[in-house]
Amino acid sequence: MGMRIGYGFDSHAFKPGVPLVLGGMKIEHPEGLAGHSDGDLLLHAITDALLGAVSAGDIGTFFPPSDMRWKDADSTIFLETALEEIATAGYRIVNMDCVLILQRPKIVPIAGEMRARVADLLHIPDRDVSIKAKTPEGLNHEGTAVAHVTVLLESLPEPGESRAKVAEVEDNAGADDTDDVLVRALIDGEEPYSTRRLGRKPSYDTDDLT
Ligand code: MG
Repeated sequence: MGMRIGYGFDSHAFKPGVPLVLGGMKIEHPEGLAGHSDGDLLLHAITDALLGAVSAGDIGTFFPPSDMRWKDADSTIFLETALEEIATAGYRIVNMDCVLILQRPKIVPIAGEMRARVADLLHIPDRDVSIKAKTPEGLNHEGTAVAHVTVLLESLPEPGESRAKVAEVEDNAGADDTDDVLVRALIDGEEPYSTRRLGRKPSYDTDDLT
């Protein structure tokens, strides 16, 4: 079983008069987050964690802020692209842990709803997503929101591989040891896909203003 880990970070400044969008949710608050897109830094950090886990570049690689198509864009678009990239590379999410650092609004009352929303966007159960919130004690960045995200991925079996292995084992093994051989074969067969199979191999561009 191949495993890969990813890490994502993002920060945005608060700005009066724009809607606050966090974790794919619109939140009632006098200020939103400045950004080229909708400013959803949690989804941006998640997107970077997923892309990083399969060495596929970062959010700025796919959605450069110089491209006006992404002006005020819904950040769920970025997340969907990252999910396609990990699936193309042959991986799925095991679990994700997120930390939000911001003074206001308080996240605790909405953390459950946000967790359910993020899990829904990732197509995984709520139990595989953790969202924690901290206030920026001693950091002197009350006007800024920050997100850190780690994700663990596991490899998917090659398409059709399991069926082929079963047929091979049934042909070659005696009745008594079929199960053991099958288990070993399936375990041996679950090598991760190479990330070189990604349809797009982006050049690195760390200019991320999304
Ligand atoms: Mg961002």
